[in-house]
Order: sequence, then C-alpha cells, then structure tokens
Amino acid sequence: MAHARDTLTGLDRYEDFLAKLDKEIAKIGERRIAIVYTDIKHFKYINDTYGYQRGDMLLKEFVHLTTTNNSFVLCAARVYSDNIVTASLLREETSDSDFRELIHQTNLDLENKLQRKYLDAKLKLCTGIAIISNVDKEIDAATAVSNANLARKIAKALDQECCVLFKHTMLDSIKKEVEITSSLSEAIEDGELKVYYQPKIETDSLTVTGAEALIRWQKPDGRFIYPDEFIPLIERSGQIVELDYFVYREVFKFISRRIRENKPIVPISVNVSRVHMQKMEILSYIKSLYDEYQIPPKMVEFELTESIYIENTDKALKLVEGFHAMGARVSMDDFGSGYSSLNLLSRLPIDIIKLDRVFLKDEDAEEHLKENDKIIISCVIDMAKRLRITSLCEGVETLEQSNYLSEIGCEIQQGYYFSKPISQDEFEAFIDKRLRKKDLVM
Ligand code: C2E
Ligand code: CA
Ligand code: CA
Repeated sequence: MAHARDTLTGLDRYEDFLAKLDKEIAKIGERRIAIVYTDIKHFKYINDTYGYQRGDMLLKEFVHLTTTNNSFVLCAARVYSDNIVTASLLREETSDSDFRELIHQTNLDLENKLQRKYLDAKLKLCTGIAIISNVDKEIDAATAVSNANLARKIAKALDQECCVLFKHTMLDSIKKEVEITSSLSEAIEDGELKVYYQPKIETDSLTVTGAEALIRWQKPDGRFIYPDEFIPLIERSGQIVELDYFVYREVFKFISRRIRENKPIVPISVNVSRVHMQKMEILSYIKSLYDEYQIPPKMVEFELTESIYIENTDKALKLVEGFHAMGARVSMDDFGSGYSSLNLLSRLPIDIIKLDRVFLKDEDAEEHLKENDKIIISCVIDMAKRLRITSLCEGVETLEQSNYLSEIGCEIQQGYYFSKPISQDEFEAFIDKRLRKKDLVM
C-alpha cells in the first residue's frame, strides 16, 4: 500500500518515517545510520516578511537540497513546521566526526544558496546528528530522533556551532535539569531550601554592618546543591521568580522577628535575578512584603548585577527608582566581572557598588597584573567615593587583602576571611557577638 506523503514537501509523513526507521534499525548489522535533524533559524522571519507562500517555497527548496545532496538517504520527513529529519546510511570509511564535518559544509552551502534567493534574510541552519550503530540496536526510532533533536537544541543554544553530534552525556545533563526543575516547588515546601547569610564587615570598625542572603538547597541525605548548579536552570524555566520571592519573604520575616524580639539586626541584601526584568512584577511583590511586615525600609537592599544594568538600562533604572520610592537601597553587584561601563555608574542612582572578587583572585597571576588590579580597584573606590556611592569588595579571603582594602579606603568587606555564608541560627549568634551598640537598629 502506498504511503500518504507530506503535502507541502513531498516527504514521508513523520509516523511513516518512524516505522521505516524502526525497520532499518532492526536489521542494522554492521551498518551505521545517521539521524540528521535540522531546523531553519529565522524561518519565522521569512514567513512574517515575505508571507507564508514564500515561506513554503523556501521550505520545499530546503528539503530538495538536503535530500538530493545526500545519496545515502534512507528516509526523510518533516516533523513539524521547518523541522526536517533524515536518516542516512554512513559509508564504512566515514567516521562520525567526518560525517558531522560533511553536514556542516552542506549546511554552509545551503545557507549561501538560500541566502542569495532570500536576500536580506539571515538564514541559519541548526543541525543535530545522532548516529546509530550495532551497540544501540535496542533504541527505537522516536528516541533516536529525540536524541538528534536534543543535539540540535544544543547547537541552537551555542549559536556559533551549527552542527552538533549527540553524546550520551547530554542526556545526563537534561535528566539533571528535569530533576531540579520538577522538584523545586516541593523542595521549597518541604523546607529543603534555606536562606544563608554572609556577614558584611565595616572596614573601619571591623563590626558587622550587613549581610547578603544566599540560597542553599540541602537534600534530605544532607548533600548541598549550590546556587551555581541550579540557578541557571531555574532561570531558564522561569522558576527563579518563585525562588527569589521565597528568599525575600524569609528575609522580611527574619528582620521583623528580630525587631519584635528587640534584638539587634543589620540591613540584609537580596539578589535580583535578570528574569524579573521580563514581567517587572517584583516591585509590587516587594511593596506587599513591606505592607505585611512593616520593617524599616532601609533594612533591605537589592543587588542587581552589572550585566543587568548594561543589557536593560531602562528597565533597571525603573527598578532602582521603584526600590528607592519604597525607601530601600540598591547595589550594583559583580562590578568588574564583565564589560563594565564606568559611565553607567554616574548615570544610575545606585547606592552601593560591589566589586567582584575577580579583582582579588590573582594567586597565579604575574606580579605586574597584581599591580594593575590594585590600581583599578583603588581608582574605582576613589571614583565611588566622589560619586557618593558606598564601596564594598567581595571575596576577601586573606588578612593581606583586607589590609590593602582598608588602606585604599574601601568601606565594606565581604568574604571567607570574615565568614562563609552561614545558617540563620549561626548568623544570629554571629551578630549577637560581633555587633557593637552603634550598629543596633534605631
Ligand atoms: P553572588 O551574588 O556574587 O554571591 C557571592 C558568591 O560568592 C556566593 O556564592 C558566596 O558564597 C561566594 N563567596 C563569598 N565570599 C567568598 C570568598 O571569599 N571566596 C570565594 N571563592 N567565594 C566567596 P554562592 O552562595 O554559591 O552564590 C553564587 C551566585 O548565585 C550568587 O553570586 C548569586 O548570583 C546567585 N544566588 C545565590 N543565591 C541567590 C538567590 O537567592 N537569588 C538569586 N537570584 N541568585 C542567587
Ligand atoms: Ca550578590
Ligand atoms: Ca557578587
């Protein structure tokens, strides 16, 4: 019985493609089959600019070029929209990486050909390749395609690399991502996530002048998952908003309890993820916390990284103004970690500048680099002073560093030399011991 075909491209329907591929895998023997999964980046642009008819034409042409250029194609289908998958037999002498190189070249040729026709469109092909050999003969066609698609997504995310070979370790990282994102809400509910506090020390008096709230995730078996491991993942899924709100509420609750109990407390700073820039709902959430807990506004500070100010200057300015309107202070975090813009410092009404620890992390660096770093730190601190911005240096690990910062007039220090981030109980003990009267809240 003849199979129905995809009406637009003339290729197999995807279900038929999978059935054919399953049969080919069943009799794989010594052969290797390459699943090539490609999509056209900016295809939507063609549809939007030239109309769907032109988009369809481009797609047909793309399919024609991909399938005729490769004489070993066993079957090919359109998975959906502009996502095309082909299964080809590899020659014995072609290694997996040779094949990747071949497809890479074909993609570049195709891009050129299509580009000439569609003039101003920035067409780019993104391809993932999964190679099936005798060792994977248990795999089914759908899984093989999904592996190739995963490699394609990685190619797309990398931007530079248009063609990526699937590796099994990619599945491990996806599995970990799913594990983390799917268990976050429950973990918050179950109390696995706790706010830790890292003290900030005033250089002149060496007393505690504040603290930064940093999240810690401790699994029931005692193992810690650190922010660098899970924050990038939950930023991608958008769940960072939920996490940050949890942290903010815990911090407000903590400050208000200390005040109620008539115990000393210092201002606590919290981190603001770049994801908040998308919806800008953070201001009304913070407002509701101030209404609920009635703490002095200056007891909370908001840290936005330097890169947020650079990438979203207008929105960042709106946030800064919003926080200021509530009476809170705002800092520029990780200053010096990226392409710092000095003129941004004078344009933005920020209160505190936090110098990134890269300035201090130079154990292996050559002597003259150390000197250069010293010059930069002292210039930034000098400039901050003139702009009436409080300067804080992060990542202070040694007495020598601390003394140097004191020498050049850095007002506040934070780092392992004074304390690692510690639990709330430990932090309470810390401030009870290390606060002088003048640091008590009014
Ligand atoms: P960050 O905001 O720059 O926080 C400072 C990081 O430096 C913390 O890492 C802290 O433990 C570490 N650190 C402090 N002193 C030293 C030192 O002397 N030496 C060294 N080597 N490291 C030091 P942590 O807690 O692992 O957090 C990493 C990053 O994750 C933070 O960088 C921040 O960007 C993010 N993060 C942590 N908690 C939260 C949160 O609740 N919300 C959001 N949005 N981001 C968070
Ligand atoms: Ca921070
Ligand atoms: Ca920082």
